[in-house]
Amino acid sequence: NPERRPLIAGNWKMFHGGNSGLALAADVVSIAKRVPHADLVISPPYTILGAVSLDCQGKKVAIAAQNLHAKDKGAFTGEISGPMLVEAGCTWVIIGHSERRQLFGETDATVAEKTAAALQYGLLPIVCVGETLAEREAGKTLAVVKRQLEAFLDILAASDKAVAIAYEPVWAIGTGKNAGPAEAEEVHAAIRAWLAEKSPALAQRTRVLYGGSVKPDNAKALLGCPNVDGALIGGASLDAASFGAIAEAA
Ligand code: PEP
Repeated sequence: NPERRPLIAGNWKMFHGGNSGLALAADVVSIAKRVPHADLVISPPYTILGAVSLDCQGKKVAIAAQNLHAKDKGAFTGEISGPMLVEAGCTWVIIGHSERRQLFGETDATVAEKTAAALQYGLLPIVCVGETLAEREAGKTLAVVKRQLEAFLDILAASDKAVAIAYEPVWAIGTGKNAGPAEAEEVHAAIRAWLAEKSPALAQRTRVLYGGSVKPDNAKALLGCPNVDGALIGGASLDAASFGAIAEAA
């Protein structure tokens, strides 16, 4: 299914905001030439979005922001809007990352609001969902992911855009503990089924990415799962060799 070509996205978080980011982006442009079978996305800090997107123009590397404000403009000191991100050259935006939910108070409601804003202003959202360790141990994984998904499912279904959802178990992010392929596939298959219940076309066009300690040595097994359409990568995206090896595994 060409709509579900592998999507490999690097979430740089608050790293590589200057010259090292420009150099890493240039390395990712080279990686893109070696992996024509995958779509590559990088998500640098705001300060270099404009410069990186100029360098990546026409080079098959798309740019994502790590967050946005739901309003288009206004008196919101320190915030960045969807139209500004589009002007800076972004085509994607990560929404509801667990760090935003846990450290910056984002709720299912703000995630929904931001998802609607992204689509309204012409950005493709990568919306993140995932359970904590306590939730997994209490057997609540599917219930939590379903609740998070239901907050924005109608918004995705009302658009015809090829969006992405990232399943990122919180206990696997930055911990070196990845979900096993069977654990990941169980949740990915459930997400696909919930999408299909809402709209078969939505289930067809939505790429469901796995995130959480994806590394070169576990990428092949995770990306080989039938309902895993790519990866959202934190730590291993900060280094061109690891990011390249993961992209090659897709
Ligand atoms: C992330 O932050 O989206 C992530 C998956 O991080 P890491 O790959 O470092 O676990």
